Amino acid sequence: MNYNKKTVKDLDVKGKKVLCRCDFNVPQDKATGAITDDKRIVAALPTLKYLLEQGAAVIACSHLGKPKGERKESLTLAPVAKRLSELLGCEVIFATDTIGEDAQAKAAALQPGQIMLLENLRFDIREEKNGADFAKALADMADVYVSDAFGTVHRAHASTAGVAAYLPAVSGFLIEKELEIMGGALANPKRPLVAILGGAKVSSKIGVINNLLDIADTIIIGGGMAYTFIKAMGGTVGTSLLEEDRLDYCKEMMAKAQEKGVKFLLPVDTLCAAEFSADATPELVDTMAIPDDRMGMDIGPKTIALFSDAVKDAGTVIWNGPMGVFEFPAFAEGTRALAKALAETDAITIVGGGDSAAAVAQLGFADKMTHISTGGGASLEFLEGKELPGVACLLDK
Ligand code: AMP
Repeated sequence: MNYNKKTVKDLDVKGKKVLCRCDFNVPQDKATGAITDDKRIVAALPTLKYLLEQGAAVIACSHLGKPKGERKESLTLAPVAKRLSELLGCEVIFATDTIGEDAQAKAAALQPGQIMLLENLRFDIREEKNGADFAKALADMADVYVSDAFGTVHRAHASTAGVAAYLPAVSGFLIEKELEIMGGALANPKRPLVAILGGAKVSSKIGVINNLLDIADTIIIGGGMAYTFIKAMGGTVGTSLLEEDRLDYCKEMMAKAQEKGVKFLLPVDTLCAAEFSADATPELVDTMAIPDDRMGMDIGPKTIALFSDAVKDAGTVIWNGPMGVFEFPAFAEGTRALAKALAETDAITIVGGGDSAAAVAQLGFADKMTHISTGGGASLEFLEGKELPGVACLLDK
């Protein structure tokens, strides 16, 4: 996968109409529809401002929620247009459709330095199906395509990949940073490269573990997924999360690590509980001997020391998935301590999106990381080494 892609800076956009795919999939209050977190809109500002300053006429577009091809008033992008206008300090013209008469007329009349927003792309079923006619109609409104919605680059949708067949396609600043930092870490990492994987399930990170075993110098496994590895090594895991059907896979991965000389670290001690509850009393046990009626909820202090030591002299650390049930304060220490270890190392530190990003933010270490990916599913597929349609479609440098 080539991560070296042209960006908005490689094109002259002056006087051009630019279709800019953003990620405005913001959380909203169910009752009032009010935007409860505008982080994603704020994140889109550098690219949008740059385009406007360069004298482009910007046609922004995004999806919101899962309307599944039907117009749903609760999922209109109108509130996003309003918030975007407040943040940019200029009018954001809102089209009440995506490729319909209103969008076409407003796009045709749009002047350099002006910005408009199309209605929710997923109101049209052809968006997710990557319909060629829908992609072409989007493209026909513009001269250039800028992709800046990293959260959707793993999807081959009309607005994330299809349009690139008809327009010169480049990345915005958000995707540029993802490619530079995460792409750089995978293609040419500063070594040693330490990958920390946690979270609930082995099954959701099979491709990631397999791919990182080819690249990393050390792999650290924590969180709920560790217990399937512990069982595969002959330990007892009580009522901990366990995927029996992945035991052979875990054995294979440990054999692969040995064959490749990759250091493979698992928890050595575990904080257990009698039940999955925030009020449960933590009990410290040896990870290989979890009692029958106890479940592993977090890594213990010896494991924290072992894992923290492994990141101390790392060149690059990639982290995806919490070390325990960090949502419960009594079982958040493992994740917190590891976030602190990452904050204190001189290594390039990269945190995958989704739960890991939420954990790092909740625990107060977000500004100490080199990079926190803005994509959940997209950053996992990135770490799997998969070709991402929304990246592959961009022009190579
Ligand atoms: P994932 O989306 O796979 O990264 O999983 C994140 C979730 O894994 C979080 O909600 C954590 O609470 C959960 N998790 C981490 N460790 C454990 C554990 N030992 N037992 C149960 N759930 C866990």
